[in-house]
Amino acid sequence: MALYAELHRHLGGSVVPRVLWRYFHRSGDALANRFPDYTEFEEFYTRPRNTLDEYLELHTLVEKVQTEETLPYFVYRLMRGAYIFENLAYLELRYTPYLRTPDHLSQSERIDAMVQVVETVSKASQVGEYPIVMGQILCMHSRLPYEVNRAIVDLAAQMQPHVCAVDLAGGDAHYRDRLDEFVELYAYARSLGLKTTGHLYETTEGCYPELLPYLMRIGHGIQIPLLHPDLLGEIAARNQCLEVCPTTYLKTGTLESVHQLKTVFDRCFEAGVEIAICTDNAGLHNVRLPFEYENLLTHNIIDFEQLQACQAAAFRHAFAWPYGKHPASILTSALSETRAESVPLTQATPLIDTESLSQSV
Ligand SMILES: [Zn+2]
Repeated sequence: MALYAELHRHLGGSVVPRVLWRYFHRSGDALANRFPDYTEFEEFYTRPRNTLDEYLELHTLVEKVQTEETLPYFVYRLMRGAYIFENLAYLELRYTPYLRTPDHLSQSERIDAMVQVVETVSKASQVGEYPIVMGQILCMHSRLPYEVNRAIVDLAAQMQPHVCAVDLAGGDAHYRDRLDEFVELYAYARSLGLKTTGHLYETTEGCYPELLPYLMRIGHGIQIPLLHPDLLGEIAARNQCLEVCPTTYLKTGTLESVHQLKTVFDRCFEAGVEIAICTDNAGLHNVRLPFEYENLLTHNIIDFEQLQACQAAAFRHAFAWPYGKHPASILTSALSETRAESVPLTQATPLIDTESLSQSV
């Protein structure tokens, strides 16, 4: 069995439609009346949107029900699905903790309540029967004030190793007016020893070269090979990996066809820029990681060798995978050690007496 690493998945978008629909019905949420029938809910929840902003609106639907009390319900189901259906050995789960705190509290009370959210996610993700190495990424958000984003960075530093990095989310078109602020926050995060990724160069509106030097990985980054291939050399030199989430670009209207991704992969391979293939919002898309792999193969965007290179890159660029290499290579070395220790097959006593067998023929 192949084991995979998922580097870009949002807690909000990771709830598969059936789990969310059941939750609405079990908890008597108003949406249960609006969608008595599951099929209609799935259609509403997973249909493509026209823009990234419209698509991100859907996250608010899930964020408001992911409270400290309900998070264990959702995280447990997420880990179970990831283990059983996706063969994940490693998962980085990202979210904005502030948006999971009660909104009737003051800003400073909500900031104080964030630590509890991180602890809850951490505890809920340790599911004995579904063992997956998991790290949390805390997302700063383009629509939150500076004080909250800075508190998110501080919390990430305080909550290591449960938290493995910080991110910036909320739609990359919205960073422009506050670019200096985000540069400063990323520099601050790096000064605290935090690892960094950021939603950047996802849309044509989100191309900010000023932020690139602060990132260890780039969330999406597809507009770099598509519109700014001149940057690929420096991206390769910094060993920055792109987190490419194929289904997202079709759901957000960023790309018209999955075939446009062939240019992304071809130019990155040529320039030596590594790509981790990710799901972004597996639940919202109703798509699991092995499907993303297979879909790229089916559409001839990459071949098997390139797929395996991307799968290995995901483990290499993982922020909290402690083993350095892909689990398959760990198993291969374990197997060769076992074989070396055991009696060589040629010297072993045969289970069947071949001599008497040959005489009896
Ligand atoms: Zn994302």
